Amino acid sequence: MVEQQLRARGISDSRVLQAMLEIPRHLFVPEAMKAQAYRDSALPIGEGQTISQPWMVARMCELLCLQGHERVLEIGTGCGYHTAILARLCARVYSIERIRNLHQQARQHLRSLHIGNVILQCADGCHGLPGFAPFDAIIVTAGGHYAPAWIEQLAEGGILLIPEGENGLHQLVSYRKKQGTLVRTTYEACSFVPLRSGVQS
Ligand code: SAH
Repeated sequence: MVEQQLRARGISDSRVLQAMLEIPRHLFVPEAMKAQAYRDSALPIGEGQTISQPWMVARMCELLCLQGHERVLEIGTGCGYHTAILARLCARVYSIERIRNLHQQARQHLRSLHIGNVILQCADGCHGLPGFAPFDAIIVTAGGHYAPAWIEQLAEGGILLIPEGENGLHQLVSYRKKQGTLVRTTYEACSFVPLRSGVQS
């Protein structure tokens, strides 16, 4: 996976590659999907949601340019795979999932790997986590448009990364907060499950 899907296709951040080597992706997918865990695609994880394609996880992590000291907010924990990779790359990850069943699964997955620098919440991520702000990076792993709360909770110099768009047609976009303004940069087209509001118990 790391050599053929990531390095050969342009992922060069050595910390990202190392994290992708170390975190066992098969532990995050349902039993029936285990044989396909390292495939070059997204996979279903139940509740109509997916674990993102390995390349996309690596690409998003690389675009955040993490050095190790950052506090990162993730919107859309899913099964916790991307969360686990982020936990290797920064000081602390705060991750919000709106579907309780997935939130609980992610908690078990991260516990089984003894990953301790993660705080998980079951909530509507569109409100962010004001009690823990500001964040050096905010990563949204469901497609849509950014919520105003995320911009408020972004530290000066911080970066927000989101698959922007509708109906499964998205483009990776980053917003860098610089002296009160937002600098927008666009990257490749992609397709994510949609950002939704409210909590599903
Ligand atoms: N980070 C995961 C991606 C999971 S798919 C991975 O890399 O594998 C995206 C997740 O975002 C889904 O689990 C979905 O339920 C969740 N989601 C969608 N809208 C949300 C919201 N408003 N708040 C929190 N989570 C949300």
